Amino acid sequence: MTAPTPRDITGRTRVTGVVGWPIAHSISPAMHNAAFAALGLDWCYLPFAVPPERLPDAIAGVRALGLAGVNVTVPHKQALLPLMDELTPAAATIGAGNTVIVCDGRLVGHNTDAEGFLRALREAGCDPAGVPALVLGAGGAARAVVYALLGAGARVTVLNRDAARAAALVRALDAGHAHALRAGALDLATLRERAPGARLVVNATSLGMWPHVEGSPWPAALPFPADAMAYDLVYNPRETAFMRQARAAGAAAAGGLGMLVHQGAEALER
Ligand code: NAP
Repeated sequence: MTAPTPRDITGRTRVTGVVGWPIAHSISPAMHNAAFAALGLDWCYLPFAVPPERLPDAIAGVRALGLAGVNVTVPHKQALLPLMDELTPAAATIGAGNTVIVCDGRLVGHNTDAEGFLRALREAGCDPAGVPALVLGAGGAARAVVYALLGAGARVTVLNRDAARAAALVRALDAGHAHALRAGALDLATLRERAPGARLVVNATSLGMWPHVEGSPWPAALPFPADAMAYDLVYNPRETAFMRQARAAGAAAAGGLGMLVHQGAEALER
C-alpha cells in the first residue's frame, strides 16, 4: 500500500499534521507524506495554520477529531506545554514541545529536537562525549541543544546577545551538571577568550536564516577555531555564512537539515 493521495483518502486513513503560524513555508508535509509512502502506511500529514490565540482550540481539536498526533512549530512550542495532559522528561526540562501524541485519549507532549540534534551531530561525525562546546543563542532551540549535549556528556558554554537569557537557560538546565554548564555574553571579547578551547560550536541563533543570509553570530574579526566543528541549526540556506566562515578556517561544518530530518523521523517513530 502507498500513502494516500487526496483522491484515495478513506475513513480508515490516519490523519496527522503540523501546527504553526505561518506554515506555508514548511517542508514537513512533503517530508512526512514521503515517509508514509515509503513505509506503506495509510496515513496523511497536513499543514495547519493556527494563530497563537487559537492554539488551545486547535489542540483540543487534535483530541476531538481523533488525530494520531501533530507536530507543533514556531511560535507555539512553549505555549503548548500547559495544554498537555502529560509531558516527557525532555519536554518538561527543555520547557518546550514540538510533538503531541494522542495516547489512550491523553495528550502527551514530546520534544524531539534534542534527540534529532544528537543524531544529526553524530551523523556529521561529532561524538559530543567530553567535548568542550560553545552554544551560540539561548532561545527554544538552544535549550534543546544544551539539554542534548549535557545528556551526551559535553561541557557547554552558552553565549547569547542577551546574556541574562543565557544565564536563565543555565539555571533551568544545570541540575546535576554544575561543572559542565556556563553562561556568558555573545560578544567579541568572550568569543576570543572561549574559542581556542572549543571543539564544537553550534549556531542556535536565527542569524543567517533566509532571507538575511549574510548574517552570522561569528564575528568577522575572529578566525574560527580550525580544530572545532561548526553545526548550524539554520537549514535554509543549505550552506550558511557561519558554515562558510568555519570551512574557510579549515574546520568541518554541517547545516540544520540533518536535525530537521531526524527530529521528524523521531516524531514519526513515536
Ligand atoms: P528563538 O527562540 O526566537 O531564539 C532566537 C535566538 O537568536 C536568541 O538566542 C536570540 O538572541 C538570537 N538572535 C536573534 N537575532 C539576533 C541578532 N541579531 N544577534 C544575535 N543574536 C540574535 O528561536 P529558536 O526557536 O531558538 O530558533 C533558533 C534557530 O534555530 C532558527 O533559525 C530556527 O529555524 C532554527 N531551528 C532549527 C531546527 C532544525 O531542526 N534544524 C529546529 C529548531 C530551530 P536574544 O535572546 O538576545 O534575542
